[in-house]
Amino acid sequence: MRIEEIEVFWLRLELPDAVADAMTDLTHWDVIATRVTTDDGIIGWGYNCTLAEGSAALKILIEVDLAPKLLGKDPLQVNHLWRTVYLERHFTGITGIAVQGVAAPEIALWDIIAKAAGKPLWAILGGHGVTRVPVYSTDGGWLGFSEAELVANARTVKAAGFRGFKMKVGKPEIAEDCQRLAAVRDAVGPDYPVMIDANGRWDLAEARRAVRRFADYRPYWLEEPLHPFDVPAHAALARETEIPILAGETLYDKRMFRDFMAAGALGIAQPDVLKLGGITCWMEVAELARSFGLPVVPAGFNLMQIDVHLMAVTRHGLMIEYIPWLAPIFERPVVIDRGHAVVPQEPGIGTDIRADAIERYGMA
Ligand SMILES: [Mg+2]
Repeated sequence: MRIEEIEVFWLRLELPDAVADAMTDLTHWDVIATRVTTDDGIIGWGYNCTLAEGSAALKILIEVDLAPKLLGKDPLQVNHLWRTVYLERHFTGITGIAVQGVAAPEIALWDIIAKAAGKPLWAILGGHGVTRVPVYSTDGGWLGFSEAELVANARTVKAAGFRGFKMKVGKPEIAEDCQRLAAVRDAVGPDYPVMIDANGRWDLAEARRAVRRFADYRPYWLEEPLHPFDVPAHAALARETEIPILAGETLYDKRMFRDFMAAGALGIAQPDVLKLGGITCWMEVAELARSFGLPVVPAGFNLMQIDVHLMAVTRHGLMIEYIPWLAPIFERPVVIDRGHAVVPQEPGIGTDIRADAIERYGMA
């Protein structure tokens, strides 16, 4: 089997008004989809996402630099190809787009491997047949919602059976975040998981003030409180609070995770299949977390199609994130049933993009 053709499609979807976190007002969501065709006619799909920034650069990186290295190669050699392509990119950079760009073709190769075997990805990765994985919802916890909207959304999410409700924090005043969290806690009861995500907004002093005030409302985890690369600050915060610190969605290398884990800076690891350049490294980070005794939560971020497989093979995985914006573009969007994602049984991953979605949302 040889890779015969690699095509890249840039899609842009418009988002609802209230979608904001502590760092970004999101208006659009981009998908950089990669279709890889083999000489025996198997088509694999992978994708990348951006907040509508850097998309053109990602597309060019894949088309101009990565695709020529993959044409003619055997997709079954994904591990070797990943290392070759990734390591060759070191001059361009070892974080950001230079790594993230590898993810879409890498995921497409796994899709081909699974389709060629006639099995879903989780089975190729050694899964044993988990049929449902728990899901928490972020769609309703955005910073742009008023307190009343936030509370109503939390109630709706809980009633729909989701295993938790994640809300963004990082308002200009910590007191306001605290009031919003208190209102949500009051609405959903004492035991329902409520996660909070600061998207790297605070410095250590602010984060210390925040965790002291938040502790009474028992957040299930505190996500990305600090600059994503600051190991000592995360470690200091983790020593001071019983709220589990979850981070990793902005880390680009297994060694970065190792340093966080070795410093005691993480309570829960959050590897992102895009930021890590694909499935190969995601699995390595999940295994690393297991060796440190840490649970794993996939970064989510519109990756349900892939996360559902990863979660199905990760025994120390907790749950995946529900953000439904991309459902219209997939041939087979993940099915959510009473707070669980149904693990696909069809061959491949489920990353196939609809032809009419490329027509409708396609950019240059
Ligand atoms: Mg986050």
